[in-house]
Amino acid sequence: MSGSPRTGPPTPAVRQDRRVTDPRAAVEAALARLLPGLDDLLASLVAIPSVGGTPAESHIQHVLAARLDDLGLEVDRWPLDLAGLAAEPGFPGSEVARTEAWGVVARLPGSGGGRSLLLNAHTDVVPVGDPRAWTSPPFAPTFRGTGDERRLVGRGACDMKGGLAAACLAVAAVSAAARSGARLAGDVLLAPVVGEEDGGLGTYGVLRRGWRADGCVIPEPTALDLVAANAGALTFRLTLRGRSTHASRRTEGVSVLDHLPTVLQALRALEERRNTSVDPLLAGWPLAYPLSIGRVSAGDWASSVPDLLVAEGRYGVALGEPVDEARAAFEAAVAAACAGDPWLAAHPGCYPPIVVNITDGEPNPGSDPAGEARQIMGLSSGDGNVLLYNIHISSLNANPVMFPDAATGLPDKYARFLFDISSVLPDKTQAIARQQGFPVTESSRGFAFNADMVQLISFLDIGTRPVNMR
Ligand SMILES: [Zn+2]
Repeated sequence: MSGSPRTGPPTPAVRQDRRVTDPRAAVEAALARLLPGLDDLLASLVAIPSVGGTPAESHIQHVLAARLDDLGLEVDRWPLDLAGLAAEPGFPGSEVARTEAWGVVARLPGSGGGRSLLLNAHTDVVPVGDPRAWTSPPFAPTFRGTGDERRLVGRGACDMKGGLAAACLAVAAVSAAARSGARLAGDVLLAPVVGEEDGGLGTYGVLRRGWRADGCVIPEPTALDLVAANAGALTFRLTLRGRSTHASRRTEGVSVLDHLPTVLQALRALEERRNTSVDPLLAGWPLAYPLSIGRVSAGDWASSVPDLLVAEGRYGVALGEPVDEARAAFEAAVAAACAGDPWLAAHPGCYPPIVVNITDGEPNPGSDPAGEARQIMGLSSGDGNVLLYNIHISSLNANPVMFPDAATGLPDKYARFLFDISSVLPDKTQAIARQQGFPVTESSRGFAFNADMVQLISFLDIGTRPVNMR
């Protein structure tokens, strides 16, 4: 029996044949006939480079829809409403960009009165990694070995086109048995889905389409272990801030790397706490709810002290645990770690960028430099607004002007305009400029007109020393 309108009492599409008395034997007989075709089916699926987010991810859905249609199944194929689904609160997230994605559900209708079974298998694969590490091209499937050692080598052969091919074969066998008269009471559904590797878009789309079943088998590679329960997962992104400076003045900056261990320790402790008692269904795992950072990037220059670190990872959600609670526990752990680290506690925000615009002064026709400047200077962080400095290399043969505090005295309208869109120097920057002999006032702006090389270098040095910025 099915609770779904889509798997409700179907039309009796399966004719009863009195010759078939043992449906199991009928399915096994059909399987024996179909099994020799499994190699070709699997190889043809592996040969489709259905990496998440690529056109091949859609192509494989169409290939399967056609194949399942050929088997005589009722096939529902529809384009997923990517924007609509992504806007829903329950959307599981996605990590690759897509312009389209397809849902496919094939239904072998039962004659009624039985429970429905859904086979769900993802068709997307992850990228191939370093191609040189492959002993044969990842999308040119190759059979190796014999007997029990026989393997097909190719991206996705294991995860999970092997399972997908097996599911197709199973449905074909049940369909053949039904055609030969075996009575199938409940519906059998097969849903090849996209986007499993980056969140679960495909299965989410199937559910939102209204498909339901009483039971579901997902033939993921588990070395034939029966996995009856599965933890949830959230992906996260952490951003830590330091203070950048040139490595030759390391002590004037703050390397964000020095503050990562504090957060790592807190996350390890959180993981330990969350695994002290776990549901018996997951007790067989060494770690039921792992928390792991999979990607860290920091800094952008070998000779700079890094001021920005972004770490992304995966965080296990316990069986039955509301996602909001899991998220709150994570955020609380990170917040507590930051509160215990004086630098992180004092710098929840970050220095906004300093933008230095070097220009000949004459805007391109049709451009709106004033508007753009306003937009840039409107960006801010907890430490204030973006600073915009302008260096005007003019064709006029006029004297250099450094850090002016008024537009009067500037030689042309371009220079006056650039003065207008230059930020006033912060106090500490003014002090450094004064130390270097520039007669700055409280109204001096980050603007240089026709500076010579030495003045330019001073300008950049004074203007971009983070330790003196605010
Ligand atoms: Zn998989």
